[in-house]
Amino acid sequence: KAKDDGKNTYHFYTKEMTEQAFERIFMENNLREALNRNEFEMYYQPQYDSNTNEIVGFEALVRWNHPERGLIPPQQFIPVAEETGLIVPLGRQIIDMATTAIAEWQRSGLTKARMAINVSAKQLRDASFTQTLSAILDKNQCLPEWLELEITESSVMKNTEHTIKLLHQIRRRGITISIDDFGTGYSSLAYLKKLPINKVKIDRSFICNLPEDKDDAEITKAIISMSQSLNLDIIAEGIETDEQRAFVNSEGCYMIQGYLYSKPVTYDDMTAKLKGEA
Ligand code: C2E
Ligand code: MG
Ligand code: MG
Ligand code: MG
Repeated sequence: KAKDDGKNTYHFYTKEMTEQAFERIFMENNLREALNRNEFEMYYQPQYDSNTNEIVGFEALVRWNHPERGLIPPQQFIPVAEETGLIVPLGRQIIDMATTAIAEWQRSGLTKARMAINVSAKQLRDASFTQTLSAILDKNQCLPEWLELEITESSVMKNTEHTIKLLHQIRRRGITISIDDFGTGYSSLAYLKKLPINKVKIDRSFICNLPEDKDDAEITKAIISMSQSLNLDIIAEGIETDEQRAFVNSEGCYMIQGYLYSKPVTYDDMTAKLKGEA
């Protein structure tokens, strides 16, 4: 019987692995074409000051608008884009689209908030990153003050010296830098102090079981108080309930991003929302 189970398990995994391999090949072949066909679309999720309920920022989140498959979420193609190097040209398109959006909203007086763009480790390692960034900002007449780059804690850890130098360059231009998914890596307070960062984003995984989960509550408290002592801005992401908002508020975190306020929406929907508020 045990032998049968083993066999079944084996078959099960083989089938799953084949499907994964096909999926992977599908992604690789289609990502490049999708770039040329402009099938990527940015969604924008507003960040709020929970004291005033005003929008204080936006996060640009990419989706693949596939003609047959519909909207594909980033976690299904960003890792493949990173492994194949396609994240570099894709990242360029993302920065282009997101800076166009914020420049438009800023110039028409719809907002004074910044646009946060996710940047992966591989993009940062690309030698022409800062040059490309400057060129796109110029082209779209987007001020550096309107821009924020989100770097994950794990990707800063991977890159070390080179990344730190690069982040200093970016900071000097007036671009804000935030650490995304904070708490999921293993960086120490001392290490964080060496980085030229402005803002820490508490990872959603610590937020989702608040306030019941005692461990997550302690971690969240620690991240907030650490950020305060380092004079860093702090935002909680993935806030879905009023209890979660109240918990982080009570610990001193007032910047909120999450479904409680808004899901990510298209450029047109965000524009309409901003017009309604103005
Ligand atoms: P992230 O940067 O941590 O983005 C936050 C994710 O949490 C987004 O998922 C957002 O839609 C989701 N989220 C926000 N509030 C809530 C909430 O209240 N509840 C729940 N359940 N989810 C919430 P999304 O858009 O699927 O993106 C997933 C990840 O993919 C991002 O995590 C980021 O790591 C990556 N990603 C997305 N867009 C880009 C991009 O343009 N470039 C790069 N390099 N990575 C991106
Ligand atoms: Mg992010
Ligand atoms: Mg995050
Ligand atoms: Mg996350």
